[in-house]
Amino acid sequence: MDHSIAITEQDIWLALERVKDPEIPVLSLVDMAMISKVELTNEKCVIHFTPTFVGCPALDMMKRDIKTEVELLGIATEVVLDMNNTWSSDKMSTEAKTKLEKFGIAPPVTIDDSELTQEALDRVRCPHCHSTDTTLRSAFGSTLCRAIRFCFACKQGFEQFKPI
Ligand SMILES: [Zn+2]
Repeated sequence: MDHSIAITEQDIWLALERVKDPEIPVLSLVDMAMISKVELTNEKCVIHFTPTFVGCPALDMMKRDIKTEVELLGIATEVVLDMNNTWSSDKMSTEAKTKLEKFGIAPPVTIDDSELTQEALDRVRCPHCHSTDTTLRSAFGSTLCRAIRFCFACKQGFEQFKPI
């Protein structure tokens, strides 16, 4: 392909910002830290993709969405699964966690290894009223990576993105 205007890696990242997580429409795959690497040559672009978990039912859809969005820039695109990387909720940026909370889902709790106790895992802040007086109601919410919790302060249920 001959480009009159060269595509930069930054253009690719901007295109990737437009690809949203199908389960959390306020977050892009970049916010989710699911894009581990972008390789750009004159002929094509290779996107290395680390899904939140490999069995994710939306995987093929996300790969297709990435390819479609980047190819709009006019470059052939290949999406490869990055198996050398494991996704973890700690990779999500603070900004992404804030967006998630505003969307009404409690973000994954950040815990350092020295503090990996059930009590720490239970310190989940309610996205409605910000109280931490909450309890687990169901280990599985609308998707496998979410749990359902209940807030004693505002008496509302909410979903939590589980720390993985
Ligand atoms: Zn609450």
